[in-house]
Amino acid sequence: MIYFDHNATTPPSGKVVEVMKSQLLDNWGNPSSSYRLGANARDALDEARGSVASFLNARPDQIVFTSGATESINSAIHSAVRSSPEKKHIVTSCVEHSATLAYCDYLESVYGYEVTRLPVSREGEIDLELLAKEIRKDTAIVSLIWANNETGVIWPMADISEICRSHGVPLHVDAVQAVGKMHVDFGALGADYLSLSGHKIGALKGSGALLVADPNHFKPLLHGGKQEDGLRGGTEAMPLIGALGVACEICASEAFGRWEGIRSLRGTFEAMVKDKLPKASIHGAGNERLPNTTSLYLPGIDSDAAVTYLDQKGICVSSGSACMESAIAPSHVIFSMTKSHEIASETLRISLGQNSTKEELDCLASELVQFVKLYA
Ligand code: PLP
Repeated sequence: MIYFDHNATTPPSGKVVEVMKSQLLDNWGNPSSSYRLGANARDALDEARGSVASFLNARPDQIVFTSGATESINSAIHSAVRSSPEKKHIVTSCVEHSATLAYCDYLESVYGYEVTRLPVSREGEIDLELLAKEIRKDTAIVSLIWANNETGVIWPMADISEICRSHGVPLHVDAVQAVGKMHVDFGALGADYLSLSGHKIGALKGSGALLVADPNHFKPLLHGGKQEDGLRGGTEAMPLIGALGVACEICASEAFGRWEGIRSLRGTFEAMVKDKLPKASIHGAGNERLPNTTSLYLPGIDSDAAVTYLDQKGICVSSGSACMESAIAPSHVIFSMTKSHEIASETLRISLGQNSTKEELDCLASELVQFVKLYA
């Protein structure tokens, strides 16, 4: 099997599986218990918290372990709106993950919030002047994605953070695809909240974290026991949390070295595809992008049919974001960029991993050429 869908999920590394196994088989106590088995689990929890914090330049008390980025994102927006109940306006964008869009839709339809969804350019860029203009006195939070999960386009988050600060509005950053693929420094960024997901960085599905700049003023979404220093009720999922800590240590020790090689492999692949299929183009290619992501537009080629064909050849790619794939509608991200449902339904997402090889990409390119010939 050739796997080119690392933005959907990543395989856990051997070391991650080992840690998870030891949490399941040996160190399985409840971190809140006062006897030694519990204390050992507590030590593992502290260690994982320390690893996440040091990888992202945050303080350990700023890390809240969650069930994944969907919960992190919901929690961040919830905390901001509960902190300023008189403010009934939210700014986000049209190209967010559904975790953000659906929570904003919910606040809008159930609680009467006004939501501004910023448009993007044809190449997926955000207009910073428009962002500044749309922030109002009653804006409770700005929530924006750092690196897009479908196109890999990276937004200038330091500038966005500066704009939010100068307007006195909290900022939540969806850094799910950024973490592990580019330098993320929570301390320097100056954002109020930052979300990450375990299964995008070699840890496990159902794990994630929310980074909170000011934990003293955090308003929890989940109420229960006093776990996570009172910021999230519920017994900590130690096998998942231990795995997340180790995944962060691995990311930190690899220091992004391997991604530069992947960026260059991706460049060769994109050039080869455009050479063999002259009508093909890459969404967002003129922008700063994650090193691993290609959003490939193949005019006249149904992307779902291409995904099925490639699957039969043992190659996994996607026709959009995995969370949206059961929905009939084609990618809202590509639609927001191109204003065309047709283009959105003729776009493939190819996302490489650190171990992807030139041979695998050559194989994908030749199967794509073959499929276009058959399909046309
Ligand atoms: N945000 C982005 C940009 C994502 O790519 C994803 C997952 O695809 C999420 C949020 C949701 O993450 P999780 O699967 O951990 O809930």
